[in-house]
Amino acid sequence: MVKLAAKCILAGQWLRNPGMAFEDLKGISFRKSPGTTRPQPRDPAVGKTALAHIFRSDGVHFQNYTLTAGVDLVVKTVPIPDTSDSVELFIFDSAGKELFSEMLDKLWESPNILCLVYDVTSEQSFSSCGKWLEKARAQAPGSILPGVLVGNKTDLAGRRTVDSAQARAWALSQGLECFETSAKELENYEAPFHFLAKQFHQLYQERVETFHTLV
Ligand code: GDP
Ligand code: MG
Repeated sequence: MVKLAAKCILAGQWLRNPGMAFEDLKGISFRKSPGTTRPQPRDPAVGKTALAHIFRSDGVHFQNYTLTAGVDLVVKTVPIPDTSDSVELFIFDSAGKELFSEMLDKLWESPNILCLVYDVTSEQSFSSCGKWLEKARAQAPGSILPGVLVGNKTDLAGRRTVDSAQARAWALSQGLECFETSAKELENYEAPFHFLAKQFHQLYQERVETFHTLV
């Protein structure tokens, strides 16, 4: 029986969390909505925190999580099917981090796996995935960083702007496994994390085998 621990970074477009005071949004870039004088945050949040929390609570807590101003760590053990092994996922959810910040660099140091989230109703959140992926891979130079691309909010079907096939094609080109979820409807929320745990476990096994052939 082997117990592994993996550092998982949650990435994806962030600009605003619900309930956050307007004053808390200082330093974030805005655009003005037509007809309003008050600037609006450029994009909605994609649902990283919601996904991490429903995963931790086995689907119990969707809205019922505390929004942090800094870093949230979600820890959950995932058993690996057909083995007695498990992977403990340490999911680093960065609330309020921008793509280029020193704090994010520190937080993301030496990741093992990546969960990249976009919102299927936001084309912009999808097109920013490339930047997040580049940033994440730069944190793990010289090593494989297994990753998944997660299109969240599939419950908002009428507002969908990102096509599944388009997302799948991009994910494939980047070596990412593709998933779609609805944190709100508790749909498929475990699959990306279970896949990542399995990938990490497989990498471990391959390393052990390489080691055995060397000795
Ligand atoms: P984060 O900034 O990426 O961590 O995003 P949050 O987890 O804070 O979620 C942002 C907003 O999207 C919140 O209002 C959530 O309730 C909402 N949200 C998250 N997941 C879903 C989903 O699957 N469907 C819908 N309709 N809303 C969601
Ligand atoms: Mg968040």
